[in-house]
Amino acid sequence: MSSLPVLVLNSGSSSIKFAIYEAGGAQPLRLYEGAVDGIGTEQGKFWIKDSSGNKLVDQSPALPNRSVAFKLVADLLHSGDFPRPSAIGHRMVCGAPTLQINQRVTPEMIDEMERYKDFAPLHTPIGAYIMRQALELFPNAPSFACSDSYFHRTMPEVSTHMPLPAEYSAMGVRRIGFHGISYESIIHQLQPNVPARLIVAHLGNGASISAVREGKCVDTSMGLTPTGGIISGTRTGDIDPGVLLFMLRKIANRAKSVEEAADILEAAVSKKAGLLGMSELSNDMRDLRSAIHAGNKKARLAVDKFSRAVASWAASFFAELGGIDMLVFTGGIGENDIAVRAEICAGLSALGIVLDSERNNVRGAAVISAENSPVTVRVIPPAEDLIIVNHVVRLLSEQEEELAGAFAVSQQD
Ligand code: AMP
Repeated sequence: MSSLPVLVLNSGSSSIKFAIYEAGGAQPLRLYEGAVDGIGTEQGKFWIKDSSGNKLVDQSPALPNRSVAFKLVADLLHSGDFPRPSAIGHRMVCGAPTLQINQRVTPEMIDEMERYKDFAPLHTPIGAYIMRQALELFPNAPSFACSDSYFHRTMPEVSTHMPLPAEYSAMGVRRIGFHGISYESIIHQLQPNVPARLIVAHLGNGASISAVREGKCVDTSMGLTPTGGIISGTRTGDIDPGVLLFMLRKIANRAKSVEEAADILEAAVSKKAGLLGMSELSNDMRDLRSAIHAGNKKARLAVDKFSRAVASWAASFFAELGGIDMLVFTGGIGENDIAVRAEICAGLSALGIVLDSERNNVRGAAVISAENSPVTVRVIPPAEDLIIVNHVVRLLSEQEEELAGAFAVSQQD
């Protein structure tokens, strides 16, 4: 077996998660995983652990900005204590119409990503920054971008089109969808028995749900940006567009420029809304559960809104798919919040979704539907890094084939 260490980088608005896989064998093996978390704070977290779960680094450094944060990761990987990556896979969250497919990262590709930064404003700046840094710090390791919207490329026009004047569609405004790598990983884990009519609910700090027919996405709740669809930790999800106009007019009085007004609006709908905005307490479902337990009515209302939104989208996908064979819960909330799964499914019993409360009393992978439930309900944790590594290996071999083809042609010339 020839060694092929692959570095996976997954950047969020305040964290960089990373993992090192050995991808030279039949199945990729995760050797290490780690994260730098709390970027922008005086006391962040920086840790790395091996495949047995032993923490090799566990520090609380000041992380004033993303450059300090990424340097920690790069210095660690250059230290000689870890395998130097032969290739790098990035999770790319970007709404650019031209970047929905997985591809080699080049400076031009990153420029294109930044041209569309308004389509994923919380994710694109740090994602683009990390990609540029990785090109510079690991010049001999080709980098590949794995789009979080790639899975949704199979959606028909009736799902992607937005009912707007044509000039906006021409600018690329359409429904594109996110969490695609998580959805791909669920399909991957269900193979070879992927049910014909499948609904997957990815319920994490960001939440979305997708309708999948014969393994291919036909609809998803998030739209042009990760702010659309289901209410989530700090995001509104879909709201009446008239509300945005009302807010804009209120904000316009105090903003000094259009850019500033857009930033204030952006913060209101993406960073301060959702479960956090409704509860005025927290975006973390664990905090909301404790608050509900203590009788907090705002927390109760926020979680009810969340469960109702998931159930409504699932019911709409039931109509779209002409029935459901399986419902899968994934993501931090989907895997761990027993009560939220029960609340969502209680509203869906008319569609043949019947939970077994004992089976549902579980955290992690399990079948949680009742024996006689017409629809199977499962909990499956996502394995996103593995999907990124698989894409990197495929793209590397395609690239090698292209190079070999070009070499053969040049020899004939
Ligand atoms: P993710 O974005 O997939 O990492 O999910 C993060 C969210 O999962 C957190 O904000 C929590 O609300 C939720 N979560 C994690 N663990 C639990 C738990 N034990 N019970 C309820 N919610 C949880």
